[in-house]
Amino acid sequence: MQEDLLGKCRVCDQQVSKQAWNCPHCGQPAPTEEVKAYLDFRRKRLPIYVIILIVFVVVTWTVLTHLFG
Ligand SMILES: [Zn+2]
Repeated sequence: MQEDLLGKCRVCDQQVSKQAWNCPHCGQPAPTEEVKAYLDFRRKRLPIYVIILIVFVVVTWTVLTHLFG
């Protein structure tokens, strides 16, 4: 069961926790594919928040100008 929590560092090939942000052996950030995939996922999702914000502002602006214009 504990095996599931351990991955291998892609730089030094030593065992690290899949939740580790940095390899405790060589200091590599996001040493396992799991953490790397999670960080990539977060990085890709960030522009979606910006798009949602822009859409929200445009919709709010349209509604307000329709109501008061
Ligand atoms: Zn390492």
